[in-house]
Formats: sequence, structure tokens, C-alpha cells
Amino acid sequence: MEPDVSSAARPAHASVLVIGAGQAGLSAAYHLGRRGFAPFAPGDDGASPVPEGAPGTFVVLDAEDGPGGAWRHRWDTLLMGTVNGIHELPGHPVPPADPHARATTLLPEYFAEYEEMFDLPILRPVRVERVERIGVPGAATGFTVTTDGGGGTPSSWTADFVVNATGTWTSPHWPYVPGAGTFAGRQLHTHDYTRKEDFTGQRVAIVGMGVSATQLLDEISQVAETVWFTRREPQWIEDPSPGRLAEAVDGVDERTRAGLPPASVVSATGMFKSPWVRDAEARGALVRHPMFTRIEPEGVVTPDGRIEEVDVILWATGFRPAIRHLAPLGLRTPAGGIRAERGRATDEPHLFLIGYGPSQSTVGANRAGRDAAIAILRDLRERDGAD
Ligand code: FAD
Repeated sequence: MEPDVSSAARPAHASVLVIGAGQAGLSAAYHLGRRGFAPFAPGDDGASPVPEGAPGTFVVLDAEDGPGGAWRHRWDTLLMGTVNGIHELPGHPVPPADPHARATTLLPEYFAEYEEMFDLPILRPVRVERVERIGVPGAATGFTVTTDGGGGTPSSWTADFVVNATGTWTSPHWPYVPGAGTFAGRQLHTHDYTRKEDFTGQRVAIVGMGVSATQLLDEISQVAETVWFTRREPQWIEDPSPGRLAEAVDGVDERTRAGLPPASVVSATGMFKSPWVRDAEARGALVRHPMFTRIEPEGVVTPDGRIEEVDVILWATGFRPAIRHLAPLGLRTPAGGIRAERGRATDEPHLFLIGYGPSQSTVGANRAGRDAAIAILRDLRERDGAD
């Protein structure tokens, strides 16, 4: 359901405002709906009152043009058979998929069906620009949220709770290497990769150690000469056991509680040698070189001072949480993270960060959405009990 919000100037209010409609945001919306929160539905005066018996209202603001979150943008060759294991959204299974179906087509279709099935109040394309607190730091009673007013929606909102579910896709990480600006060839990030054919016959430096880096090495090495650079020696694992994964998630959780920048779960688990990784290895595509120290116009300079001539540098160096719009809250620690526990910002308890830190996976995002909805309902009940 798309609420009718026609006035771009009118401020609007929702008890819970969710930012982002990827897996995490949809999970939060689903669980809020299940717990009786009413979808934002403004009347003629622009207000969306809380219906009798409902604990509050909720709305989701999403920057995309359509459903799917980051799945709308991943490369064409990311197939249902090569994604790293998708966990269904709560309450509705992913339809059986041909392993050759494109993730960028099938998953947005699934998300669209889901949004409709549960009648979720999602406004798009709406980009949140700023979140500011109402009240004192650490004890905000709510937030003002400023958007770009996309789709003729209000550009100014207030909310009692904000659930931030903005993922990482819009914040690609480009490490600093001296001389990067002098490179005469092409540089791109995984974020902008579409297909291997763009590199046919070229010499491509691929930087990074995660699942994306190895998938792209596998693909591109089929049509081009690749040279793989990583800062550290890759850690391969033979079996992706649930115990190892749980341990890695705990490690990321600890970092997030401490306010350190949340590391990716893969960097803690090591990488599983899946069949396609073994194929790439057999073709000689997985020979790792220590990270280069400089970039020159014609290529990259290795630690022993050699120039490795390349036409392209592909940065498969990951993503960072897309949380610039939260900067006015001043929650970043000197280490660069936001302290959070079970999805709740430790230093501003009416703010939730989901799909952040340990919940940066489809299964983690599902759980974090549910936990946020439960915690908000509990807070509201306590507040109402105290009134
Ligand atoms: P997203 O899907 O990124 O959704 C965030 C939404 O917020 C987007 O719609 C975005 O437009 C919106 N948004 C961002 N900023 C704003 C703003 N300021 N205002 C309004 N809206 C905003 N995980 C797995 O479990 N299995 C996998 O196979 C897997 N494969 C992956 C492959 C790649 C290449 C990458 C990068 C990640 C992969 N992941 C995988 C991790 C994956 O990112 C998460 O599992 C999950 O899809 C993220 O969901 P999310 O809701 O947190 O973020």
C-alpha cells in the first residue's frame, strides 16, 4: 500500500519511522504490523492518528525507485545459484528459483510481492538526508527526519523511534593508495561492476579478499588476465560450519557493542572453498599477491618496487554502513562506529540500527527487525503504563 501523501510541505508524524526497505527494513515493518502498529495513512489534514487499540503508527522511507533494496543493483551474473545463501523474509518463502535466474531480477520481484502481501506503508523514492534528536543527547524523546521530499512526500517528519535499515550498498569503500589519481586506466568498485565482457582481453588488478572479490576473479579471469591483490593472506575454510559462523557473528557483535567499525562477518569466518572457488583455483586465477603500495599511470607498484602494468583496477574492497544521515546525532565513537547492542543504539535508545554489525546478513537482518519491533512495543507499553 502506498499512503496518499500529497503535500510536499506538510510535516508528518509516525510513531516509528523505518529508513530503508531492504531485508532489514521489511522485516522491521512486517513485525511492527504483526504487533498491531498501524500503517501510516494520512487524512485530509496530513495527520495519521493512532487508531484505537494500536500501539502506534509506522512508515518506511526508501531511496530506491522500486522494491528490492540492494538486490536491485548487484551484477547481472549474480545468480540464485551463486548468491551466498538467501534467508527468506519473515512470513513468506522465496519462491523456488532456477539456480540460473538473476538475483537482481528474482529478488526484487519477491520483495515486491512481499510488500503487497503485507500491505506495508513504503514511500519511495525518498532519501533521508538528516536525522536530528528532539530532547537531550542520550535521552531523546523522538527525532526530526529531513528527506529530499521524493515523490511529492513530506520532506519533514517527526517520529518517536527511528529504525535505521540503510545497509551498506550506497557506501562503497575505496582504500587510499598514493597515486590513485594518476592512473591512466579505468578504476571501478564492485558497486559499479556489471559484466565480465567489459574486460575482455585486458589486464585487470582485482583488490580485496571477500566473497565479491573471489566471485569477480572467477568471472573476469575467464575473459581477461587478472592479478589478485590482498592486504592479508586469504583464510580459506573447507567447511562453513554453523559453529564457526556463530563465533564470527559474536566477534562482530563485540566490536559493535564497543563502538568499533563493524567488520564483515566473512573477514572473521574465512572464505569457504565452494565449487566455483575450486574451479577458479584450478585455472590459476587465485594466486594472491601482497597489496601494492603505489599507483602509477601505467599500473601498480608492488612492495618489492616492481611495476605491474594493468589496464583496470577493480576495487572489491567492500562497503561501509550507509549512515551519513545520522551524523547530526553525534553518535560515532572516536573509533568510527556507533555503539549498539541487539540493534539498539547504546547512546540513543530510541534509535535502532538493524542490518548493522552482527545483523549484516539476510538471517541477521530478519532477527534484528523482529527484535527492534519487540523492543519498541515494550518501550511504548512501559511509557503508557507510566503515564
Ligand atoms: P539493503 O538491501 O542495502 O537495503 C537498504 C535500503 O536502504 C536500500 O533500499 C537503500 O536504497 C535504502 N537507503 C539507503 N540509504 C538511505 C537513505 N538515506 N534514505 C532512504 N533510504 C536509504 N547476505 C546474505 O545473507 N546472503 C547473500 O547471498 C548475500 N550476498 C551479498 C552479495 C553482495 C554483493 C553484497 C554486497 C552483500 C551480500 N549480502 C548477502 C549481505 C546483504 O547485504 C544483506 O544480507 C542484506 O541483503 C542487506 O539488507 P539490508 O536491508 O540491510 O540492506
